[in-house]
Amino acid sequence: MTFLSLGLNPTIVDNLIALGYETPTAIQQKAIPEILKGKNVIAAAQTGTGKTASFVLPILDQLAKAETVRKKRMRALILAPTRELVSQVHQNIERYAKGLPLRSMAMYGGVDLKEQKAALIDGVDIVVATPGRLLDLYTQRALHFDELEVLVLDEADRMLDMGFIEDINKILEKLPEDRQNLLFSATLSNQVRVLAKTAVRNAVEITL
Ligand code: AMP
Repeated sequence: MTFLSLGLNPTIVDNLIALGYETPTAIQQKAIPEILKGKNVIAAAQTGTGKTASFVLPILDQLAKAETVRKKRMRALILAPTRELVSQVHQNIERYAKGLPLRSMAMYGGVDLKEQKAALIDGVDIVVATPGRLLDLYTQRALHFDELEVLVLDEADRMLDMGFIEDINKILEKLPEDRQNLLFSATLSNQVRVLAKTAVRNAVEITL
């Protein structure tokens, strides 16, 4: 199997080739086709398996397809537990999306709120954020959720361990109901499954 045979946008495939990616990893082979079909997905995958690309690549493909008129509002939201993970995911997006007319922003506590608000005025397609910082920006009306198409909960088990459930629930309440939902977690514990029940209904479940 190749990235091209998965049906991904040729610009994305070129970027992957330039990065030295030859074949999709197991999680990528399983998750990418389901996500491209628009399915909700719950996946058990550890760091190091290539899980980030397994949700980022199909999201980029989808956003690039619909990019006829530039919208200014966030269309994909990726929630992650720590600033390190948020910046890693954002960096990967930048690498994979090179040459596509898509903008990604990383948001986490500690970065100047004013600066982030100013950057948002220029428009953004993909936001990668920790739950608390995202809520701050939403409360200050710097971010709008009404154009959201895809939500990703990355490292869901760690987000729950770190006590983010209330923030996540507040965010979920404010998102448009008609959206695609993806949840990635090292373990699919009972706690994670409870979250999945409210956030990621009728999901295809992927394990390695
Ligand atoms: P992750 O599990 O998302 O943290 O990814 C682990 C590492 O694998 C990252 O450094 C990625 O850049 C790299 N990677 C992801 N997918 C592939 C692939 N198909 N081929 C080679 N490297 C990959």
